[in-house]
Amino acid sequence: MFEKVLIANRGEIALRIHRACKEMGIATVAVHSTADEGAMHVRLADESVCVGPPAPKDSYLNIPAIISAAEITGADAIHPGYGFLSENARFAEIVTAHNITFIGPQAEHIRVMGDKIAAKEAVGKAGIPLVPGSDGAVHSLEEAKQAAAEIGYPVLVKAAAGGGGRGMKVAMTEAHLSEALSTAKAESKAAFGDDAVYIEKYLSTPRHIEIQIIADSHGNVAQLGERDCSLQRRHQKVLEEALSPALDAKAREEIGEIVRKAIEKIGYLGAGTIEFLYEDGAFYFIEMNTRLQVEHPITEQVTNIDLVREQIKVAAGAKLSFSQEDVKFHGHAIECRVNAEDPETFRPSPGKITDFHAPGGPGVRFDSAVYTGYTIPPFYDSMIGKLIVFGDTRELCIARLKRSLAEFALTGIDTTVPLFMRLIEEPDFLAGDYHIHWLEEWLAGSQ
Ligand code: ADP
Repeated sequence: MFEKVLIANRGEIALRIHRACKEMGIATVAVHSTADEGAMHVRLADESVCVGPPAPKDSYLNIPAIISAAEITGADAIHPGYGFLSENARFAEIVTAHNITFIGPQAEHIRVMGDKIAAKEAVGKAGIPLVPGSDGAVHSLEEAKQAAAEIGYPVLVKAAAGGGGRGMKVAMTEAHLSEALSTAKAESKAAFGDDAVYIEKYLSTPRHIEIQIIADSHGNVAQLGERDCSLQRRHQKVLEEALSPALDAKAREEIGEIVRKAIEKIGYLGAGTIEFLYEDGAFYFIEMNTRLQVEHPITEQVTNIDLVREQIKVAAGAKLSFSQEDVKFHGHAIECRVNAEDPETFRPSPGKITDFHAPGGPGVRFDSAVYTGYTIPPFYDSMIGKLIVFGDTRELCIARLKRSLAEFALTGIDTTVPLFMRLIEEPDFLAGDYHIHWLEEWLAGSQ
């Protein structure tokens, strides 16, 4: 097992990884920017190294500085968390070339899954159902028109390099195709330096359902059931549930087995998530994330499996500590992403937290790195914590959510807590009856 792990991240996920390491007797090294000197991930780690100025490109994305930090401190592995360098195949290769273990999949799998066109081809071959779409990239308006005509409108133009909902444009009819194509290409070029795009059938009211998997290097693959992440704003997840209120045991078992077999075939190592859209009883693959996800705790709560611990174990060459038969689902879990934002306009609200008290008690977990007196810097993601509730039933979860949101006390900045308080009173939410556009429609209607 590793003796020392460098955590190449910040915020709540750096703490989450630190906690897993400590429980395994592993020392931790934090890296941080000059804006994060007083951050909790730095305060808790056994050692810390400043890797650069506030801008992510100069610090949390600064590969030479991070590798140097690992070498100077003698870390034998690097955990990238999510975001930042977690899906950078080149980084994984560089880490490995320095005889340091990258806690994640093989670089080749990160690379293939990071290109959505290549990913669709790879998982399609392994038996995973796909969204009907163009056969690879479209290179001209003519090609796009032909593909769209075969698929049927509306269609979605998507960037091969896409992420975070960028480089994605809907064309309702052929008249909109030219503009959708050029906007998606321009957006993708600006954000990812690559303008390859492809076309997919636009599903009108699907749910977003994703399956968590984890695999070791001894050929064992387990699927840990699904998360329903349909409540989104601007393609960003806002609230997630495990398991999905929309699946029955049979559908769950079927898709889980398809995914498990596909991952076995691909020969993947570590934790990953296969994301699907789900409409009229059918699953359509959209992408694979080759890393730990923000919403992993709800899977941990319903399976009693510590995903970060397992990730570290399999990266060190050990076997998964459970088999597929051991995976049993208990009750329900919900996560709310609490952002430092105005709950109505969603404008970021960085600044000093003057007073803070986290909710707690039975069935409540608050994963966060903030504290009273902490100043949220303006340079990074606005998520400041994840309120995770769990219980035997979905009803109990919602009751716990309601009382823990009321307990949440944080002053000095705005948070999205009031949004969740309103959301959990909505009959559609209470009935579990929503799709990927529901939240935006509700926000538009309730303003
Ligand atoms: P990103 O990598 O940018 O997050 P994804 O492919 O994961 O892109 O898609 C993000 C979200 O965009 C999905 O959760 C869904 O809301 C929407 N989306 C993606 N593909 C489609 C599609 N074919 N039809 C309808 N909505 C889609």
